[in-house]
Amino acid sequence: MSKYELTIVAPVFNEEANIKFLYDRLTETLKGVSHEIIFINDGSSDQSIVQVKQLAKVSSHIKYISFSRNFGHQIAVFAGLQKSQGEYVVIIDADLQDPPELIHEMLVKVKQGFEVVYAKRLNRKGESFFKKITANIFYRMMRAMTSINIPLDTGDFRIMTQRVCKIVSSMPEKNKFLRGQISWIGFKQTFVEYERDPRLYGETGYTFKKMLNFAIDGITAFSQFPIRLVTYIGLSMGAFSLVGLFYALYSKFIIGETVKGWTSIFILFTLIGGTQLFCLGIIGEYISRIMNNVLHRPDYLVDETNIED
Ligand code: UDP
Ligand code: MG
Repeated sequence: MSKYELTIVAPVFNEEANIKFLYDRLTETLKGVSHEIIFINDGSSDQSIVQVKQLAKVSSHIKYISFSRNFGHQIAVFAGLQKSQGEYVVIIDADLQDPPELIHEMLVKVKQGFEVVYAKRLNRKGESFFKKITANIFYRMMRAMTSINIPLDTGDFRIMTQRVCKIVSSMPEKNKFLRGQISWIGFKQTFVEYERDPRLYGETGYTFKKMLNFAIDGITAFSQFPIRLVTYIGLSMGAFSLVGLFYALYSKFIIGETVKGWTSIFILFTLIGGTQLFCLGIIGEYISRIMNNVLHRPDYLVDETNIED
């Protein structure tokens, strides 16, 4: 028997202005549902942890895990999943972009026998054109490159059973891409649709660099396509150079004249150089992930927490 019906997992990175509002909206909408809220402070440099601790002081169902530094959104969520005790577990952003009221609709579906109910965005309000277009391309690229069915336009906002939560939290891979891992697990999954709100206060913690790393993590964790592409590029360049070889020999010995221009050489040189570096980069990405996994470093380090093991 679980201690709570519901665990709310909320990763926090510089969200001092949002925490109280998130807490209020969750409390209001979850009246009558026994729940705990786990805040994971992912190395915030503002007063987020002070806010969280204040809430925890008065309410015993408020839990927190405070990291020793910024380990990233996915790791923060992962830590929350590991510590969750609810029968069902919800992942929600702390900036109120994911409306807490939707949890009811998700609860209904999960109780009908689905193991995972994810929230699919119908549209995203208040986000930059750049963010929307890059996200759009990313989700479609993922879909084209991977063999598992990662739902389109879906973030981490979702509910899952404790059973799925346990499986995800025991997956040891270091470069986490939770929405992919959860799809990979299988079982009965479904979705509800929602309008994504703009962030309440503060600014996004997902810099362009973090987004790019996240995208590369997702693709490399679930697709062998990029590395296969290297093979294809190698093969086609090999075939092309064979044609070039015959052409060069033909020009030299049969026609007796050779091309003098540097244009062709320059183009080929930069093209082949660039392609080689690109391919080396792809191989490097996979190797660095192998390295991450064999180092056996802990996923995160906790500075302080009120959750007992
Ligand atoms: N977040 C985190 N660590 C980070 C970046 C973000 O825990 O390094 C949290 C953040 O506080 C929020 C959620 O992850 O609760 C989503 O981040 P954000 O709203 O900044 O991303 P966006 O919605 O702009 O994609
Ligand atoms: Mg956000």
